[in-house]
Amino acid sequence: KQLGVALVGLGSYADRVATAMKDCKLAKLIGGVTGTPTKIDTWSTKFGLDKANFYSYQNFEQIKDNPAIDAVYITLPNSMHHEYVIRAAKMGKHVICEKPMSVTVKEAEEMIAACKKANVKLYIGYRLHFEPYTRELIRLRKSGELGKILHVNSYDGFKIGDPKQWRLKKALAGGGAMMDVGIYCINGARYATGEEPIWVSAEETKTDPVKFKEVDETITWQMGFPSGAIASCVTTYNFNNLERLYVIGEKGFVELSPAFGYGPIKGRTHQGAMSWDTTKMHQTWQMDGLADCILNGKPDPNMTGEEGLKDMKVIEAVYKSIAAGGKKVSVV
Ligand code: NAD
Repeated sequence: KQLGVALVGLGSYADRVATAMKDCKLAKLIGGVTGTPTKIDTWSTKFGLDKANFYSYQNFEQIKDNPAIDAVYITLPNSMHHEYVIRAAKMGKHVICEKPMSVTVKEAEEMIAACKKANVKLYIGYRLHFEPYTRELIRLRKSGELGKILHVNSYDGFKIGDPKQWRLKKALAGGGAMMDVGIYCINGARYATGEEPIWVSAEETKTDPVKFKEVDETITWQMGFPSGAIASCVTTYNFNNLERLYVIGEKGFVELSPAFGYGPIKGRTHQGAMSWDTTKMHQTWQMDGLADCILNGKPDPNMTGEEGLKDMKVIEAVYKSIAAGGKKVSVV
């Protein structure tokens, strides 16, 4: 048995997932949901899919009656995740939802509750949890080889293009660089330390108030962990080549750079260069890995709705700190 998947929102990330799924063994792309009927022709040809397995946003609920579809994967703009995750859960289908899972903590909590009530899985698309370099970083930290974790550097950003895109509209994106890629710095610092941040302090820099009228451009922030470790983080929509996760322990370090993009991820430790298989696309690892959890009861990776909620709580604290002029804010 393979896990049958339908992608919801056939944009650029959905295309990447569909391409990666061609190499999956346990997961299989079955169909999609789109508001653009011409995409049914292009997608069914490109990925060899039956046109009968495509739906619109209006007849979305008919997926309920399609036994070939076990899970839906939400790849819509951020603010639409909440509605479609809840609609999918009500159909009794498992849900994979892109990051950020929602645009508020409250919405994230509602999504988790809806999936729990429907007894379906909810995973957030934190693809790096199946990526070999990231897994090795986590293994080294857990094994104690790095010793007590003292400090983390976590950076992710890029220069954004088209000023008209949804990522720059608050109503669709919920926020700017922070929501889109700053979330990798938070998730990364959490898996680098194995702890949850208890406070943040943050500042925003805006060099282009017209382009970034509605959303954040560059944010620098710190996160404090219960052990005393500090993470120093930057995210931006204003320049390229910002992508690094550097974890420093008493006995060793791991530096992944690049650390968060599609890769190949590269890295070194106190013992030298790291070398792992990077021939598979991250989304191939992820979809086969999640299928193994759903079909075969493998333990869930740290990609559940609850994990997504933890990141949303930190994001809200970051925005609160910025609004308070950079004051230290508790993560609650
Ligand atoms: P995109 O703009 O390429 O695709 C969005 C899709 O949603 C399009 O097909 C668009 O037609 C559709 N859509 C439906 N209603 C819409 C509306 N009202 N406004 C705009 N588009 C609408 O975006 P994307 O880059 O594919 O991002 C989609 C999601 O995937 C986002 O949540 C993003 O954060 C996430 N993403 C994750 C990764 C990752 O590595 N995990 C990478 C890229 C994007």
